[in-house]
Amino acid sequence: MLVMKFGGSSVADDKQIHKVLQIVKGRASRRPVVVSSAHKGITDALLSAGKKAAAGEPDAATIIEKQRKVLKGCGCEHDLLDTFFREIEDLLRGISLVREASKRSLDFLASFGERMSCRVIADYFTRHGVKAEAFDAFELGYITDEHFGSARPLPGYELKMETEFKRRVGSDVTPIITGFIGKTSSGEITTVGRNGSDFTATCFAAGLGAEECEIWTDTDGVMTADPSLIKDARSIPFMSFAEASELAYYGGRVLHPSTLLPAIKRKIPVRVLNTNRPDHPGTVITEEGGENPNAITSIAYKENQAVITIESPQMLGQPGFLAKVFDVLGREKIDIDMISTSEISVSMTCPGVANLNEAAKALEAHGRVSIVSDKTIVCVVGKNVKAQRGLAARVFGALRDCDVNVEMISQGANKINLSFLIDDDDIAKAVPALHDALFK
Ligand code: ASP
Ligand code: MG
Repeated sequence: MLVMKFGGSSVADDKQIHKVLQIVKGRASRRPVVVSSAHKGITDALLSAGKKAAAGEPDAATIIEKQRKVLKGCGCEHDLLDTFFREIEDLLRGISLVREASKRSLDFLASFGERMSCRVIADYFTRHGVKAEAFDAFELGYITDEHFGSARPLPGYELKMETEFKRRVGSDVTPIITGFIGKTSSGEITTVGRNGSDFTATCFAAGLGAEECEIWTDTDGVMTADPSLIKDARSIPFMSFAEASELAYYGGRVLHPSTLLPAIKRKIPVRVLNTNRPDHPGTVITEEGGENPNAITSIAYKENQAVITIESPQMLGQPGFLAKVFDVLGREKIDIDMISTSEISVSMTCPGVANLNEAAKALEAHGRVSIVSDKTIVCVVGKNVKAQRGLAARVFGALRDCDVNVEMISQGANKINLSFLIDDDDIAKAVPALHDALFK
């Protein structure tokens, strides 16, 4: 069995869906299970309609028109999605009446994107020689916790998925399953977070014991750097799970950060491929990885980071000081990435400044607290970065040459990453300079 996930741009319209059909046809003998995103732009449109409705302006027409275009392009019956359209109208009207869009309502609203695209794709496939049926992931055992906006499947989901799949999916049918969405055990629809269909796909691959999970997108696999920033970014043939996880977490644009967890657990290879160039080998991500032409695999970055620093003489020779600090941050649910310490201070980065103020107040009890924002973590990932002589000189030399100041530095404890902090404004200078220094 082969799980194949197609992203929003891969299923953007009839032209793209036709490419997807050909790709799936070519893999018919491997029992493809398709997981799909919403058509490109639909999730954004749904969520912005939710916001507008909460401000008293319910507008379902824009979304319906967008979705109808794809429907028509694909030659589906014009009323195929009418029940969904009515529900979207009702929901937006409801939101506009109460003038409030909770996370739970937004998840419900966003779920229509994938529910509609999968119906369109299944219908198109069936009329073009691949008997297909649309399934909502929750019909096939994808039951999640109640963290609306970032829900995760309940422990033991793999078994439930396997059972439901056997029970509901006919052996002559290609299932087209919604990415991104799930349901709680009490029946509320959830989402796993933006761009989360990759994660849904690897969950299904794990649950169904697939031989491989393919992630079909619009680049030739995982690239050495963001191709929208670096014109000559290259495709990386092999990556290890560890390298790809670092990269996904530190802003590599191709994979959702949680994607690899289910694959790692069941040792399922993940292959990233290009729907627009299906013959390109893309990137294969496995436990061991492989030998690439360059010692460095890639450069990623994560913008809009804040740094919180606590300075206190109490730190000197005081066991337990950091425990107190982390206790506060844990209670305030602050997610820490980089840490650097001196004898009397500790600095930590976290995404955004949004809920830092409460934490800062609580930390005042332990020292002088300061917060700065608009920083970017840049991360150089490669097999055994730690053992490469001269790498730091090349990296920081390149940054000096383009006049970029570096603040915190961390050589990853896991040997495969070197990360450091720069100003958001310096990304456009720093990343190309690093790419030249490391890949040319
Ligand atoms: N449609 C969702 C989004 O745009 C999920 C995905 O594309 O993976 O975030
Ligand atoms: Mg997407």
